[in-house]
Amino acid sequence: MKKILVTGGAGFLGSNLCTKLLEKNFYVIALDNLSTGSMSNIQNLLENKKFEFIKHDIIYPIDLPVDQVFNLACPASPPRYQADPAQTTKTSILGSLNMLELARKNGARIFQASTSEVYGDPDVHPQVEGYRGNVNPIGVRSCYDEGKRCAESLFFDYHRMYGIEIKVGRIFNTYGPKMDPQDGRVVSNFIMQAIQNEPLTIYGDGTQTRSFCYVDDLIDGFLKMMESEVKFLGPVNLGNPDEFNLLELADLVLKLTQSNSKIVFEKLPQDDPTRRKPDISLAKNKLGWEPKICLEDGLRKTIEYFKVKTFSKRKVKNVGYSITP
Ligand code: UDP
Repeated sequence: MKKILVTGGAGFLGSNLCTKLLEKNFYVIALDNLSTGSMSNIQNLLENKKFEFIKHDIIYPIDLPVDQVFNLACPASPPRYQADPAQTTKTSILGSLNMLELARKNGARIFQASTSEVYGDPDVHPQVEGYRGNVNPIGVRSCYDEGKRCAESLFFDYHRMYGIEIKVGRIFNTYGPKMDPQDGRVVSNFIMQAIQNEPLTIYGDGTQTRSFCYVDDLIDGFLKMMESEVKFLGPVNLGNPDEFNLLELADLVLKLTQSNSKIVFEKLPQDDPTRRKPDISLAKNKLGWEPKICLEDGLRKTIEYFKVKTFSKRKVKNVGYSITP
């Protein structure tokens, strides 16, 4: 049975990936330092004999016998990755080095969760993989952007130096169940605000755009990329090409939650990208992959998840007893 290592296995994407890999009958080892991931995301997996959780920070080396590695560990929400920017850079760079060493020792194939942030505030639209980006190297986002860019270069260097089988996917904005409602991203913020009848906070004037991918579609892309022909290394864009501005997103969330929340406008964060939309021709051609779930359907499922989570948390609070670690 193939042993698959998932770093960041207790995070939003990692826990969804672990679930899918277990369904496919793989043995799964999840690593997480639990800085932004949560045991509650993997609580239901812990009883599975084919699942193992190790609390570990990938900035330190680790030796494990594995056949494949999905390197997902890194805080990904701007407020979270900016909270300790040096740690964020270390996670991308030292973490990638440690995971590449692990892959080299095991002869394992390794997938890197890269990001649309490598394009910075793009002046090519939609973004194609050949575009080299417009990143501010000294800005508040650079710990993440430059860390992930450097990680990509490490992956390609390890491939050139040691012939390691690498797979690099550039992930665009993703949402869905197991997102941390507190992590400060726009989809989770808007949904939480709407279901609690608080004002929806739009940063700037709301004309900036993003393209939101439902998590199941993204995980399907990860698996297709990992299983793709050996000579296809990427980088490949993985995201939903349907582009929305934030005013449209806010309206849709208000409609689907039937909320009476108002919209308030707040200061735009520094270096906030103006437009973002993936060109996914490469993923279509090489992986036969494209997202299937539209924003409205995906939001419905996510709203349902957040409602249940918020409701059960409230119940837990009332009796003064917490079941979530
Ligand atoms: N944003 C917003 N309100 C919020 C949170 C985020 O208007 O409560 C904006 C943010 O400034 C950005 C977009 O929504 O323009 C997406 O932000 P997010 O943090 O979700 O991801 P990013 O694409 O910036 O990494």
